[in-house]
Order: sequence, then structure tokens, then C-alpha cells
Amino acid sequence: MSTFKDLGLKSEIISALTNLGYEKPTEIQEKAIPQVIASTQDLKAFAQTGTGKTAAFSLPILEKIDLNRKEVQAIILSPTRELAIQIARNIEEFSTHLKGFKATAVYGGSDIMSQIRTLNKGVQIVVGTPGRTVDLIKRRKLKLDSVQWLVLDEADEMLNMGFKDELDQVLEVTPDTKQTLLFSATFPKEVDRIARNYMHNPVQIDAGKRNSGTDTVSHEYYVVTDRNRYPALKRIADINPDIYCIVFCRTRRETQEVADKLIQDGYSADSLHGELSQAQRDLVMNKFRKKTLQILVATDVAARGLDVESLTHVINYKLPDQVESYTHRSGRTGRAGSKGISIAIVSPGERRKLGPIERIIDKKFIQMQVPDGKDICKKQLLKLIDKVNDFEVNESQIGEYLPTILEKLEGLDRDELIKRFVSIEFNSFLSYYENAQDLNNTSRDRGRDRDDRGEDRRERRRDDENMSRFFINIGRKDKLNPARLIGLINEQEIAKNIEIGQIEILDTFSFFELDKNYQAETLAAFTRDSEITFEGRGVNVEITEKKRAGSRGGRRNSGGSSSGRRSGGGKSHRGGGNGERRSKPSGDSSSSKSFNKSGFGRDRSNKGGRRHN
Ligand code: AMP
Repeated sequence: MSTFKDLGLKSEIISALTNLGYEKPTEIQEKAIPQVIASTQDLKAFAQTGTGKTAAFSLPILEKIDLNRKEVQAIILSPTRELAIQIARNIEEFSTHLKGFKATAVYGGSDIMSQIRTLNKGVQIVVGTPGRTVDLIKRRKLKLDSVQWLVLDEADEMLNMGFKDELDQVLEVTPDTKQTLLFSATFPKEVDRIARNYMHNPVQIDAGKRNSGTDTVSHEYYVVTDRNRYPALKRIADINPDIYCIVFCRTRRETQEVADKLIQDGYSADSLHGELSQAQRDLVMNKFRKKTLQILVATDVAARGLDVESLTHVINYKLPDQVESYTHRSGRTGRAGSKGISIAIVSPGERRKLGPIERIIDKKFIQMQVPDGKDICKKQLLKLIDKVNDFEVNESQIGEYLPTILEKLEGLDRDELIKRFVSIEFNSFLSYYENAQDLNNTSRDRGRDRDDRGEDRRERRRDDENMSRFFINIGRKDKLNPARLIGLINEQEIAKNIEIGQIEILDTFSFFELDKNYQAETLAAFTRDSEITFEGRGVNVEITEKKRAGSRGGRRNSGGSSSGRRSGGGKSHRGGGNGERRSKPSGDSSSSKSFNKSGFGRDRSNKGGRRHN
């Protein structure tokens, strides 16, 4: 195994890496750094999140960058603002000893004028989200004619999010002489198209198995009915008292609901999704990074830029629609060589979704049994005993009270004392789980499963009510597809991470649903610029009547409509909620408050210093 010095990096960079605790290069770094230092040939790298790819592309660029020239020499495109900020932050850390070096991040949803001011001062590396980058290019504030390196980070995700046109535009305005470095976890057709059209004879680097998750991650699943999804999540958290995890949900609403319930039930948890302001998101992310939060409930897009190393678990509260998203989710754990567990909580009907994922990750899911109350109590009890064992007593604090305490407890022997102290800490926990039912799905749950589907439908109907349906006068004949439509909606910058519902592409026109709260803004966005065109046609958007709930997927045009199930740019699919709040499972919801008052609940909530008791 080589060292960073062997890879050809200068001492200023190596000393910054040493300060960051980077001792040895990771596989992708070992392969990419010397290649980019030695050659200007384009590079196509298969790399998962968490493999150290930020350093793999940044370090050789920093090695070769001309510190005496102030123009932009490298542009790095990344799918989300969080990731862009993260990359710029990493580059700053790597370059602390490089005098005269400056990098900045540019991204939407933030004051463009202050970004322009920073650019005007002269920066050598710009990290940008595709939309804002194109915007700055069009305003002639970001000049890329001296660019020597173009990095496309998480190219598959950028395309998933509908940024195809933006990528094309950036690729076209950068000089032909540049070196393009493309990093992607998966290589679907669209990414290949970029590689074919814009890269010259690229060198290919593979770090780890293609499309597969990291080797350090094991994959487990639990089968429960929909109504038991939330109680199962709690039990998974309870059987792992030191859990430090991200719980992935599919919609912002589901994310908020699950987080609210966990908080109410005394867990150290919070939510991260697109509806929060940037300041709120930063606050949550900071708390999570500092581990004052144990459980972060998040949507895929919101969690993208979050760089945390020691997650014990990733929990798929609901599996994502796109198989690739599972690899991104699970890649958040098992980072930098540590072990991690990726858990999927699935209903019996969702079990079939595991096969395609197994083929991609090239690993089998292991079925686990939702722990019963006894197992959880045993685990928590042992944790308490370990805590007692390891606790450092502050003699000076307790000393003055000790004689009185000892006098009062004089009549109790050691066994009796232990029993009583443990019971005080533990009784409410025991009674919480005393009659806890078996949550594992068995045949006797089948009837209930049918109820769950009804519940799911009701949830979906409620979701429907929160959506407005729009007509748009372009369709399949205009080469419109769901991804391009999402891209077009994104371009209008209606609102940050607005939720997109069903998309229906017909031959000459289409329909899409957007969050009802932004109905007026949507219409205004599509009409404020009379020149919005798509493939040469003027675009017209109108509000249209909603289809009746229950007629989802019903098609007006027998010529073949497609119902868009994709989301991007912070949009997420709608999924059913769980029925737990309406059900009365023994133990798992009814006595949660008393459980909070036990030492365990308090331990968790105190750690987060949160608003619960
Ligand atoms: P990335 O894939 O670039 O997001 O990196 C994943 C995590 O690994 C980040 O937290 C990096 O700081 C960390 N990391 C990257 N390279 C190394 C290295 N050579 N040694 C230790 N940690 C690293």
C-alpha cells in the first residue's frame, strides 16, 4: 500500500492531510491521484459515496493548480448544495498550506450577489450545483474559458435529478483542452452518453465493485405490516442503545411524521428535509455531526451532502423507488473502513423489492426478527449495568451526603440494594415492553395487511388532496419525459425542493402535480417569462381539475400515457404513512410516555438536550 507521498503530492498538501488524520490513501485515491497528476487524459471513475472520492479528484488538482493565476481553473459540479458546500469545505481543508489559493461553492437558494462578489475577487476552484452554475455563466459572472479541469461528481445523481441540460451547457462552454473527471456510483445510459459525447478516450478506474455497496456494510431486513413499521423502528433503536443512524423516508411529510413521533417518544431524533430553511438544516446537521442527535430522519436528497463517518446503521423506513438510491443510502454507513448495517423495514408486499437490490449490491439481505420485549429489556439492562460499572464517581460532590445516605440504607444488604436501584431505573421500561406483541409478520397478520393497504390508500388520498394538477402543452412528441419535465420545473425555481407528485406524459400534452401550497407561484413562474420554450415550442401551463382519488393511473389517452414516478431535486414520491397512530398495539405506543420517564428515555433525550422531558 502506498503513501500520499508516493502518489506524488507535495509536502504542503501532505501536512494538511496529516492534520485531518488521513494516514493512507483509499483505493480510489491510490488509483486516481497519480493518474491525474501524470496525465491530462479524461478519467471515468466508478466510485461509491464514502470511498474518499472528494480527495481523489481534489488533491491532484490542488497539486497542479497554478497559484499565481487567479482565474477559475477547475469547476466541480455536484448534485446538491449540501454536497457542493461539503466539497468546497474539504478543498479548503486540503489547501490550508497553499498560499494564494481560493475555492468557493455556488448553489441555488442562496444570495447570488454575494456569490458573484466572491467570484469577482478571483477563485481558482468553483464547486457548483448545475442550475446555479449555468445561471452564473449566463450572467457572465462565471468565466470558464481558462478551465483545465471539469469534475462531474455523482454524475448519475445529477442526471436523476433532471440536470441533463445544465450538464450539457457547462460541458459545452468549457475549453476542449480541459481534462474531464467523471465520478459516478452507477453507469446508466445517460451517464454513458455524457462520457461518449464529451470525453476523449477516458481512462477507466474502478474502486471496489461496480454498483455494489461498500464491503463493510451488511444488509438486513425486517418484515412487518405497515402499521407495525414505526413500532419496529423503535424496537430496532431500543435493541441498539448506542445507535447513531439515518432513517430514510420517501417524502417530506413522512420524514417529519416519523421524526415527530420519535421525539415525542423520547428519542434523540430530528428531521432533515427540503422544507426546512437552510439555517434549520445546518443546525440539525451540526447537531448530528456532533452526535448530540442519535437519529436523523431524512429524505434522500436532504441527506446527500451529509458527511458523517461513524454511522452504525442506515435504516430504510421505506425502500426507495430507484434501486440505485439504495446504494447511496447504504453507502452512508460503513465509511472509511468501519462496519455498518443497512436495514430495510419492508411490508410483506415490499419484500419483492429486495431481489433487484441484491443483484445490484451483489450481496444477500439477511432476514432479521424484530426483537421481542424480553431481548430489548435484557440489552438495555446490560447497558445500564455497564454504565454503572464504568461510571466515575465524583467523591467531592457526593462525599458530604454519603453518611446520611448510608445511615438510611443501613438495613438493606447488597443484593436488595442492587435490585432496588435497578428497578427504579428499569421498571417503567419493563412495563412498557411487558405485553409487547410480536411484530414480525406471520400469516395471522394477513387480514391486517389488507387493512394496511386500505390505510395506505387513505394516506395516498390525503396526499392527493395536497397536490395541484397542472396541464402543460408539451408531450412525448416534443421529446418530453418525466426527467426532462422535472428539469423544466426545477428551472423555474418555484420554491426550494418543491414536492412533485404524479406525472403523466401524453403524446402532445402532459400533466403534473405539484404541492398545492405553491399553486400560484407555479402558475406565475411559468407565465412570468413569456419565452419559456421546450424543443422550440412555447410552453404553456394551466391549472387543471384534479382526477378523482382512486382513478390514479387512469388514462385519458389510450394512445399510451406514462405515469411519472420519478422525482428529483428534492422531490420525493408519496408513500403511505403507517397506521400506528390509529392502532393500539400492546406496549409499543400506549406506554411510551412512561417509558420516557425511565432512565433510558432520559438518557437519550438528555444527550440531545432536546425539548422532550
Ligand atoms: P468522500 O467519499 O470523499 O465523501 O469521503 C468519505 C469520508 O472519508 C470523508 O469523511 C473523508 O474525510 C474520509 N476520508 C477520505 N479519504 C480518507 C483517507 N485517505 N483517510 C481517512 N479518511 C478519509
